[in-house]
Amino acid sequence: MSSVKSAMIIGGGIGGLVTALKLHRDGVSVRVFESVETIKALGVGINLLPHAVRVLTELGLAEELENTGLPTAELIYVNKFGQQIWQEDRGVNAGYRWPQYSIHRGRLQMMLLRAVKDRLGEDAVCTGHHLHTFEQTGDDVVAHFINKKTGEQIGSYQADIMIAADGIHSVVRNFYYPNEGLPKYSGRILWRGITESTPFLTGKSMIMAGYQDKKFVAYPVCPTAAEKGKALVNWIAELTVDEMPSRTDWNKKIDKGKFASEFEEWDFGWLNVPELIEETEAVYEFPMVDRDPLPQWTFGRVTLLGDAAHPMYPIGSNGASQAILDAEAIGTAIMEQASAESALKTYEHVRLKPTANIVYMNRENGPEVVMQIVEERSPNGFNNLEDVISHQELIDIANKYKKIAGFDRDTLNKK
Ligand SMILES: Cc1cc2nc3c(=O)[nH]c(=O)nc-3n(C[C@H](O)[C@H](O)[C@H](O)COP(=O)(O)OP(=O)(O)OC[C@H]3O[C@@H](n4cnc5c(N)ncnc54)[C@H](O)[C@@H]3O)c2cc1C
Repeated sequence: MSSVKSAMIIGGGIGGLVTALKLHRDGVSVRVFESVETIKALGVGINLLPHAVRVLTELGLAEELENTGLPTAELIYVNKFGQQIWQEDRGVNAGYRWPQYSIHRGRLQMMLLRAVKDRLGEDAVCTGHHLHTFEQTGDDVVAHFINKKTGEQIGSYQADIMIAADGIHSVVRNFYYPNEGLPKYSGRILWRGITESTPFLTGKSMIMAGYQDKKFVAYPVCPTAAEKGKALVNWIAELTVDEMPSRTDWNKKIDKGKFASEFEEWDFGWLNVPELIEETEAVYEFPMVDRDPLPQWTFGRVTLLGDAAHPMYPIGSNGASQAILDAEAIGTAIMEQASAESALKTYEHVRLKPTANIVYMNRENGPEVVMQIVEERSPNGFNNLEDVISHQELIDIANKYKKIAGFDRDTLNKK
C-alpha cells in the first residue's frame, strides 16, 4: 500500500496531464501547476506510438483519441529524388493491438486537459502558476509559485511528492543540475507547419524524404479532414545550419523564405513539397536540441518526468510517447512501493536507462539512419536499391530501434 496520498505535478503539458490522470485513477490526490495563464492548442503534429496509445487506452481515452488523431497506416522513407528506400505498415495495420496516431499536439493537450478537469475537478489545474522555488521538509515538498510575466509571488502549496514535468527548460532540473547550461544543439533546424491539402498515398501515410542534412517529413493528422476527403498535413523541413537560433521556443514563427528554396525541386509526383510549403500560412522554427542523459532524476520526494528528464531529438516519433510511458511507470511504482522515496527511485530505475538509450540512438538518427546510409552510398539516386542497401540491413535497423524504444510488436502485444 502506497504512502503517497498527494502529488504536485509541475507542467500541464502532455506528460504532466497524463501523469495526473494516472495518479488520480490510482487514488492519489493530484494538482497540476502550469506556468501559462491559458493553455492553448499549441504546436503542430506529433505521433503517438502503440505503446503510448496502450497507456491512454487503459486510462479510458480510446474514443477521445480516435476522434482527435488519425491512425497512421504506414511509414515510408524515400531519398531526395523520391525513390523509395523503406516501407512498413504501422499501428493496427502492422498487427499491433493498439493504433499509432498522428495527432495535433495542441488538440491532444486540450483533450487531456478536458479529461483531467472532468475527472479531477476544474480546480485541479492551476494555470498562471510558474514554479519558482521549492524545498523538501522530510515528510513533504513545499513549492512556491510566481506569475511568470510580473514576477509576483502567488502562493505556496504542499504535497507528499512533486513531479517535475516542466519541459525542456525545467526549473527543477536546473535546480539539481545548475551548471548544465542550454540544451545541446544538433546543428539542425526544424521548420514546422500544418495546412489543409490533398491526401497523398494511403491518406494515412507518414513519409520522410532526404537525409540527415536535408530532410522533409509529412503526415496527415486530422480524422475530420480525412472524412471530408481532405488532409490536414503536418510537415517538417529540416536543414543543417551551423549557427543555433537564439531561442529554443516551440512557438517561434518565422518567414518561410528562410528555407523554402532548398526544397523547390522536391516535387515527387505523389507529394509536392514546395507547394505544401507555399500553401502553409504559419511556419514555426525550432532548433533540434536535446540534453545529455542524467545520472539521477529522483531526489527524495522530487523527480523529473518527460522532457524535463530526457529531452530527445524528435526522431522516431518518441518525445510525447516516452513522457506517457513515464506517467504509467511512476503510477505503477507509487502503487507498488511502500514509501514515496522508494516509489520515485523505482520509477527512475525503470525509466532512466531506456530513455537514455533512445536519446543516444536518436543522436545517430534513430531508424532514419537508413536515409543517411543511402545518401552516402548513392548520392545520385539508384536503379536497384539492393545494390545500395540490403533488405536485411533495412529490417535489422527498423527492428533494433523498435526494441530500444519499447514498441517491438510481439513484446508489446503480450502486455
Ligand atoms: C507550446 C509547446 C509546443 C510544442 N510543440 C511541439 C511540436 O510541434 N512538435 C513536437 O514534436 N513537440 C512539441 N512540443 C514538445 C512536446 O510536447 C514534448 O516533447 C513531449 O510531449 C513531452 O511532453 P512534456 O509534458 O514533457 O513537455 P511539454 O509538452 O513541453 O510540457 C511542459 C509544460 O510545462 C510548463 N512549464 C514549464 N516551466 C514551468 C514552470 N516553471 N512551472 C509550471 N509549468 C511550467 C510548460 O508551459 C508546458 O506546458 C511542444 C511543447 C510545448 C510546450
